[in-house]
Amino acid sequence: MTKRRGDLLQIAQLGHTVLRKKAKTVKDVKGLTVQKLIDDLISTVMDVDGVGIGAPQVYKSLRIFILASHPNPRYPKAPKMKPSAVINPKIISYSKEKKKDWEGCLSIPGIRGLIPRHHSINVEFTNRDGTRLKKTYKDFVARIFQHEFDHLEGIMFVDRVESSKDLISEKEYQKLMKKDSIIKAVERS
Ligand SMILES: [Zn+2]
Repeated sequence: MTKRRGDLLQIAQLGHTVLRKKAKTVKDVKGLTVQKLIDDLISTVMDVDGVGIGAPQVYKSLRIFILASHPNPRYPKAPKMKPSAVINPKIISYSKEKKKDWEGCLSIPGIRGLIPRHHSINVEFTNRDGTRLKKTYKDFVARIFQHEFDHLEGIMFVDRVESSKDLISEKEYQKLMKKDSIIKAVERS
């Protein structure tokens, strides 16, 4: 297959009503419009160092998001995976165990939140070829999945913080990460 290259799309910011709507089921997965949107979403998320993006974030209220975990300056510890489209997803079951970790959102620039998420999830979705898949995700990828799934429901990560004190600036987050890696380096030595 030749490498597809999409266009870079503008990202809707917190406060825009498109981010608060419940997105619509995708009917024509293999249609040109949906396939082009997937290409554009992948190019856009990679360009802005994201690890996921939902169609509502580019003003399209459709049940599509991209999982694109890869290490980058915004998420240095993200596992590497090939960007893939998740269409009409369902979360079938959640682990009881929840974990808190820092999240950001392309629609909420400059802010990070400490968000509780289920540690592992069983999911079902259609891929861009129209095949229905069942998968289990854990840790960081499960976190991205739950964050992006929320976008299809009109939920933003700031809705999920347990305390407003769990919201910090990107600058303070970067300092925390630096401190964290220094502590780990010292522990290893
Ligand atoms: Zn987001």
